[in-house]
Amino acid sequence: MTNMSENEVGYMIHVNRDLCTSCGLCEAFCPVNVFEMNDGPQAVRPEDCWGCETCAGQCPVHAIRIEASSAAKAAFADREKAAPLDPEIKARYKEWSRVLRDVLGLRWHPVAISLVKAGAPLPDVPIPEERLRFCQSLMAARRGRSLMMPANRHACPDGTSILGLTPMPEKLASGELYILFHKLDSVEAAKRMVHERPCLEPRTVDATVVAPLSEAACEAEVVAIVAQPEQIMWLSMATSYYTGHRHDFHASGYNAQCVETTLLPMTTGEINISFGCYGCRASSDVGDDCMMMGIPVELMPQVIKGLEELGKKAIPQSRDKIYLPPF
Ligand code: SF4
Ligand code: SF4
Repeated sequence: MTNMSENEVGYMIHVNRDLCTSCGLCEAFCPVNVFEMNDGPQAVRPEDCWGCETCAGQCPVHAIRIEASSAAKAAFADREKAAPLDPEIKARYKEWSRVLRDVLGLRWHPVAISLVKAGAPLPDVPIPEERLRFCQSLMAARRGRSLMMPANRHACPDGTSILGLTPMPEKLASGELYILFHKLDSVEAAKRMVHERPCLEPRTVDATVVAPLSEAACEAEVVAIVAQPEQIMWLSMATSYYTGHRHDFHASGYNAQCVETTLLPMTTGEINISFGCYGCRASSDVGDDCMMMGIPVELMPQVIKGLEELGKKAIPQSRDKIYLPPF
């Protein structure tokens, strides 16, 4: 039997009662309390569903399926459009992208990230049919996709609320969900982790936008790079090439893309690194040998100049292993 409910946000929740064992995990893990156990799980608040698939992922017998409804596809239909990106800025982004890829040998595109502030005109960027986590959209952009995602295209309640699209669900704000996921030892530790990360005010952002830097349709706020540690090391050095400044990176293993790669560079004006997080490693194709860096766009000219200088001698000599002992 299938129980189906459609909601205004645009998700349908299917529970296969022939498979369901009434274990209650879906009720416990749903960050916004969609389910109540009443002779099996009932979707009593389907209108609150974010389509995050946490319930489906935790169900031991794969009895749950979450499906986007056509209601979600009407997002932003009547919204004012932004002017196209200034050709000079576009050319600058293309050149930055070329230097980054040529000097570092990046496999993937550097990604331009921007947030559409509440009520602001919309850039000409496609809204995906599917719901995605912010980290998944960033990984898709490094492979060439441009994506604009309003709240009802975001599938991760954590990233969506951190980036200011929605209020933070209570189970996340209280730290309760992190304990269920065995990510932290105690509620106190979970609360500290939540407290120490930046978070934008709810509903101050209408959409996230990601695109290959060379194809960005609107001004970037942060450039994100997914690369191997050696490549990230050169970016760190490129940023310091003219100043010698050592970096105070803020990397925790929590909220890799939304906090560490995007929001911290955006709010501090400094580069930041990330080792990835449970969420992005479990839900995207980011390589085990990759990490990330977020660069505030205002630092990009200095990063690119520094990288070009390092690319003349330091990078090729290091890659040639000139100090390798003669075993
Ligand atoms: S998809 Fe997410 S928000 Fe929706 S019912 Fe499942 S756990 Fe709850
Ligand atoms: S997690 Fe799966 S098996 Fe457990 S109550 Fe929910 S639907 Fe049923």
